[in-house]
This record gives sequence, C-alpha cells and structure tokens, in this order.
Amino acid sequence: MPFRITALPFASDALEPLMSCETVDLHHRHHGVYVDRLNELVDGTELEDATLETILCGADGPLLDLAGQHYDHSFYWSSLRPPRSSSGPTGVLAERIATDFGSLANLKRTFVAAGLALIGSGWCWLTRSFDGRLSIVTTANAETPVADGLEPLLVCDLWEHAYYLDFRSERAHYLEAFWILANWEFAATRYGVRPTTRRVQRTCL
Ligand code: MN
Repeated sequence: MPFRITALPFASDALEPLMSCETVDLHHRHHGVYVDRLNELVDGTELEDATLETILCGADGPLLDLAGQHYDHSFYWSSLRPPRSSSGPTGVLAERIATDFGSLANLKRTFVAAGLALIGSGWCWLTRSFDGRLSIVTTANAETPVADGLEPLLVCDLWEHAYYLDFRSERAHYLEAFWILANWEFAATRYGVRPTTRRVQRTCL
C-alpha cells in the first residue's frame, strides 16, 4: 500500500494574508514529491506495507529522511487552520500550558525563540511526554520527535520554502504568524494520545 499525501484540510487561499495561496500550493506539491520518492524507495521491498511510524523508528539514510518529510509535512498541514477570533487552547491542555509554561503567551515566546535559535532547516514542535508534560523541541532537516517517545501536538516548518515567499528571511514574523494560524483543536486531540513507551528503541526494522 503506497503512502499517500492527504488533501489540504483548508482551501489553498484560506490562510491569506498570513500565508499566501502560492506558498501553500507550492509547499503541498513539494510534500507530494517527497511522498513519490518515498514510495519509489519502498516499492517492492519488505517495507512497502510498513507504517510510517515503523520506518521512522527504525530506518536510516534517505528512507528515514523521506519518511520524516512525509510525517512532518502531514503534521504541519494539520497544525494550521484559518484564523478565528476565538482560537486558543481549552480544557486540560490549557491547564497543562499554565502548569508548564505559566501562560500561553510564555509558551508562544519560548516557541518563537526556539525556532529562531535553530540554525538552518528543520522543525519546531510542541510535544507532550508520556507523563503529560509539554515541551518545545526543534529537530533538524527531516527529523521527528517520534523516535524519542514524544507525542507531537503542533509543528511549524522552519525550512525557508515554508515562508520565504511571504516573509523573505524574516523567520520571526513567520513564527508569529504561525501562532495566529495554529490549530488548537488538533493539538487538543493530540494531547489525548498517550505515547505507548517512554522511548522507542530504534531497532524495529
Ligand atoms: Mn516544508
């Protein structure tokens, strides 16, 4: 069963003016190229029926990079949504943010600072650990926090192709825009997913 790119969960122009239709369309096609290349690598091998998570916690080299790109980008599209006036975390997730970060504003500041501190291409994640604690982590290139036993809640793509058309080299402005577009309903759903292990061993293939 080949891997498939899912349709965008919003219209290509639904994030304007913060994220242009051109950026969204080009970026989604870019994701599709990664999926095509991933399928070419697994086609006819023992991994063609493997789950993405299996590959992420056991593969290396180009296979791990392409599986990571597919996972990261799929997660990114789910992390975004058209802005609404009432957006924000609620319920147990809001309580956890208060416990771990003091306030939502402090979480956002910490996230933006982490995203700016990453040199080069990668991703900035809001994650939860097995005990429910929230943390902000960055990963380089196509890496994910999944193999470290962390459950992602939201992710921001920090590759320049994600923001260069709209923000040029102003990554800080893009990170601020990300928080206006962040899909808190999705994050709340993910917060309910408890990681099954503290740390996944990278030996499952
Ligand atoms: Mn990207």
